[in-house]
Amino acid sequence: MAKEFVVGIDLGTTNSVIAWVKPDKTSEVIANAEGARTTSSVVSFSKTGEIIVGEPAKRQAVLNSDRTIRSIKRKMGTDSKNSIDGKDYTPQEISSYILRKMVKDAEAYLGGTIKKAVITCPAYFNDAQRQATKEAGQIAGLEVLRIINEPTAAALAYGLDRKNDEKVVVYDLGGGTFDVSILEIGDGVIQVVSTNGNNHLGGDDFDKRVVDWLADNFKKEHGVDLRNDRQALQRLYEAGEKSKIELSTKMEADISLPFITATAEGPLHLEAKLTRATLESLVRDLVESTRGPVENALRDAKLNPSDINEVLLVGGMTRMPLVQQMIKTIFKKEGNKSINPDEAVAVGAAIQSSILSGEMGKDVVLVDVTPLTLGVEVKGGLLEPIIERNTPIPVKKAKVFTTAEDNQTEVEVRVYQGERKIASQNHMLGSFRLVGIMPAPRNIPQIEVSFDIDTDGIVNVNAKDLGTGKEQGMVVTGRNKLDPTEINKMVEEAKRNEEDDNRRKQEIEMKNQADNLVYSIEKILKENGDKIPGDLRSKVESLKNDLRDAVNKENIQRIKALMEELNQESMKMGEYLYKQPNANQDQQTPQNGDQNGPKTEDGNTYTAEYEDVK
Ligand code: AMP
Repeated sequence: MAKEFVVGIDLGTTNSVIAWVKPDKTSEVIANAEGARTTSSVVSFSKTGEIIVGEPAKRQAVLNSDRTIRSIKRKMGTDSKNSIDGKDYTPQEISSYILRKMVKDAEAYLGGTIKKAVITCPAYFNDAQRQATKEAGQIAGLEVLRIINEPTAAALAYGLDRKNDEKVVVYDLGGGTFDVSILEIGDGVIQVVSTNGNNHLGGDDFDKRVVDWLADNFKKEHGVDLRNDRQALQRLYEAGEKSKIELSTKMEADISLPFITATAEGPLHLEAKLTRATLESLVRDLVESTRGPVENALRDAKLNPSDINEVLLVGGMTRMPLVQQMIKTIFKKEGNKSINPDEAVAVGAAIQSSILSGEMGKDVVLVDVTPLTLGVEVKGGLLEPIIERNTPIPVKKAKVFTTAEDNQTEVEVRVYQGERKIASQNHMLGSFRLVGIMPAPRNIPQIEVSFDIDTDGIVNVNAKDLGTGKEQGMVVTGRNKLDPTEINKMVEEAKRNEEDDNRRKQEIEMKNQADNLVYSIEKILKENGDKIPGDLRSKVESLKNDLRDAVNKENIQRIKALMEELNQESMKMGEYLYKQPNANQDQQTPQNGDQNGPKTEDGNTYTAEYEDVK
């Protein structure tokens, strides 16, 4: 029987890498059939129907540009399709071709079969993107042991799991994504304390700047815009990337593209010289734009740059001197470049794959975190957090809620993600109804809402009526989820509006309390009104009516004053009732606490007052 191997795969936007852990416990990047340690994430469909992957696909991309697919990772988790010869290909299918080629080449090298793999993705990938990555692996015939975050993998590759009490930054600038993560390492545990980034920033954007510079100069000189010519544009991109790479080690790069286009007068050639200084001036803002996410990640981790023990450089773009300089200005120390930045992620994935398949004999726990708070809408439209931002995953948490109305037989669970106190100001992930709740007075039914985020970051939400055992749930579909730029925007917005939101929250809570007080008083009056002296009874009744009126009019000052007064009077009422024979404490105590049923727009609600389920 053929020997079976497990591997780690960095499925990158521009390049992908496959690695394994050898029997001597050292890791090795496996070169592809062309002898390269990285495989271009490019898939091309030849005119004869052949599917070409990697360097050969990239090379013929110029001639076959509309049948060549690059940077498919940016499309993962979307509905986008590539239509070739009348057949639609999903991003996961395209990605599976890349995986299949790498696996096939690695199998040839290892002399066995590869059935299981750990695949990496950017820390900020949402559920749909993670699902799509997993599916790509499955379509390629792999059992995906786990999807892990790229920075976490990098830390493993650097062997940091063996360190104690280290605070580490992973700065990962690749071809299509930028991720920064703050990790805390100790006792063999790597914990991602915060993540930030921009999954629409990478080397491709740098290349575009060079391409525009070349095309603008060419247009000035020859009056022809090469960007309108697809083939010329491909060649410009290749030349742009090549010169950018060269300028990491040289001060000047010559660009020569003969016969780039032709006019009535004959062929035209592009000759240019790009200096490092010019390149830096073209891309300075892109490099600078990574500073904000770094600062945000530090702030979320409650750390200063000086607290950081090590900065790991990951991704090919970190070879650019300007990037390294910026890192040095932030952290006042050089980034660690001791592992090839293109390979660190795949090596870490390989280490993780061998840990998961039991080959490594040691137990490193990888912990990732949720980028935003997850919660449900409760009475008054408030957001009740269930899983706070930056909670390590996997995690399962639940809270018990109740109804806001008497005889309410269904509730709508509205799930939001975000840091604002008012639910609707956050990002709605979805909603579902739990029906068939046994009719009961409000505040009696117990509805447990649980959130379960698995190791791949996929969120399951479930609501269960603890009375009847009825349950209903949903998997958060990634289409509704956010990319890192939006996440940053939301966190910033929440900070800016914190004061206003807190005030609004207090007002809503006050209204909810008042509403509950009105409800409790009405109940007491209905059940025991005849035992209360007439003057007290009519005073309480009129205060209660006024309070209800104030609640309806949202007059907060008046609500506050009336509640105080009504509480005083209802206490007198309570005292009176307790003196009666057969007084029943439970029944008589007015409830004005926070244990109340929130009312959503359609009258459905929940209330928080619960325990977290472990
Ligand atoms: P990755 O996604 O980690 O494979 O990174 C690929 C990106 O890094 C591409 O945009 C490459 O052009 C870029 N890159 C690779 N090597 C270098 C280098 N020496 N200097 C600058 N950029 C590089």
